[in-house]
Amino acid sequence: RFDPLNLLAIEVRCARDAKVLSLSPGLCDDVFEHDGQITKRLVRAMTLATLAPRRGERLWDVGAGSGSIAIEWMLRDPSLSAVAIEARPDRAAAIRRNAEALGVPGLAVVEGKAPAALAGLPPPDAIFLGGGGSKDGLLDAAIAALPPGGRLVANAVTLEMEAALAAARAAHGGSLDRIALASAEPVGGMTGWRPAMPVTQWAWVK
Ligand code: SAH
Repeated sequence: RFDPLNLLAIEVRCARDAKVLSLSPGLCDDVFEHDGQITKRLVRAMTLATLAPRRGERLWDVGAGSGSIAIEWMLRDPSLSAVAIEARPDRAAAIRRNAEALGVPGLAVVEGKAPAALAGLPPPDAIFLGGGGSKDGLLDAAIAALPPGGRLVANAVTLEMEAALAAARAAHGGSLDRIALASAEPVGGMTGWRPAMPVTQWAWVK
């Protein structure tokens, strides 16, 4: 069980039973209940930096999975709020448990399929698209829902979504970055670099 008030100490272990949470974004993947569909720690840290929360702002985390992005957004400051939109009921339930366990029970969870599920939500200052955005006009819907000055960050691991982000950047501007990480892992008694799938990230201010 975490002590959400004890944010001053450095997290020393990457485990669900870690007693303290780091002040920085990029908590270990396993502090979140997840089924493998999670924005990995280092990519999540970079994504939070790009989302750049400011006091009082609201995030829409569309396709929230475990809720890790929305939760880390809310952990930055008590004035921040977020809505996690997730199509799968089992994952929506996990988001609620994660929010409770990590000290941000105020996270709003919407169980439903975007873009339809976005209708009627309180307006966002920033939107994160964490996957599944190349179909159903999700990217266009996010762009339309954003108020002027609002920020959009979209991460792609598929060629289809990457193509959609490249087209969006050509049409609207913004920056496109490729995050390609590798971690040292055992290889036949020695150690080698295991690459993660590269993530293409589009960041845009409307
Ligand atoms: N950022 C998340 C991982 C996202 S994985 C995390 O760190 O945990 C993408 C998620 O988007 C999946 O859980 C999938 O169920 C959900 N998803 C895909 N298309 C969706 C849609 N149209 N509406 C809502 N959720 C969607």
